[in-house]
Amino acid sequence: MKILLSNDDGYQAPGIVALHRALQQVAEVEVVAPEHNNSAKSNALTLNAPLYVHQAANGFRYVNGTPADCVHIALTGLLGYRPDLVVSGINNGANMGDDTIYSGTVGAAMEGYLFGIPAIAFSQVDKGWGELEAAAQKAADMVRQMTTQKLIGPAPWLLNVNIPNLPLEALRGIKLCRLGRRHAAERVITQVSPRGETMYWIGGAGAALDASEGTDFHATALGHVSVTPLKIDLTDHQNLGYWAQTAARLSA
Ligand code: MN
Repeated sequence: MKILLSNDDGYQAPGIVALHRALQQVAEVEVVAPEHNNSAKSNALTLNAPLYVHQAANGFRYVNGTPADCVHIALTGLLGYRPDLVVSGINNGANMGDDTIYSGTVGAAMEGYLFGIPAIAFSQVDKGWGELEAAAQKAADMVRQMTTQKLIGPAPWLLNVNIPNLPLEALRGIKLCRLGRRHAAERVITQVSPRGETMYWIGGAGAALDASEGTDFHATALGHVSVTPLKIDLTDHQNLGYWAQTAARLSA
């Protein structure tokens, strides 16, 4: 099995180094990852500047672009073959609820999924890389089990996985979850630059609004590994009927 591994924290981040080491027990793994931190870049592609690929001493290739750039370049020419699985992470911090809309970690995996390849985004719940080796081992175990159960094949799927920062023996089982919801983000932070201009810093993501049973927030708070299958069709299927009537009135 061949795995393409990327992330959004950059190719030197401890999360991708640990995950690369662990996944090598299971598959051939090639890394193509951003040169710098690209958190919250979602699926952004760089269209207005050239991209360069360099190789680090450990064999990791890094790109002066976004997570989606890395996977896109890898799959459209750089690798020269089609990987069986695209893996992203392990991210420095949770990607739960609406985080998944902004997440570069999810973006890298989603780019693989868009190309028809099964893909998994892994994140640790807390920032700071606590119990990273356990998370990497858990991730590799999951991939190994998926291989054994022949889940990795021609049909694409996209999984979002959050792993609590716990030792392996304290991690509870995998729980299939829906995405929770966060509150609206915290206030923007303003400062005055040395030149007297107001600078705006995007505020924190806010606490969980829906952390009820069945959500990723709920499961990980109890020590479970949360797994959420994601899709990319944003159509509001439930309300298509309502909008069909409303749209008819608008065009009358
Ligand atoms: Mn990140």
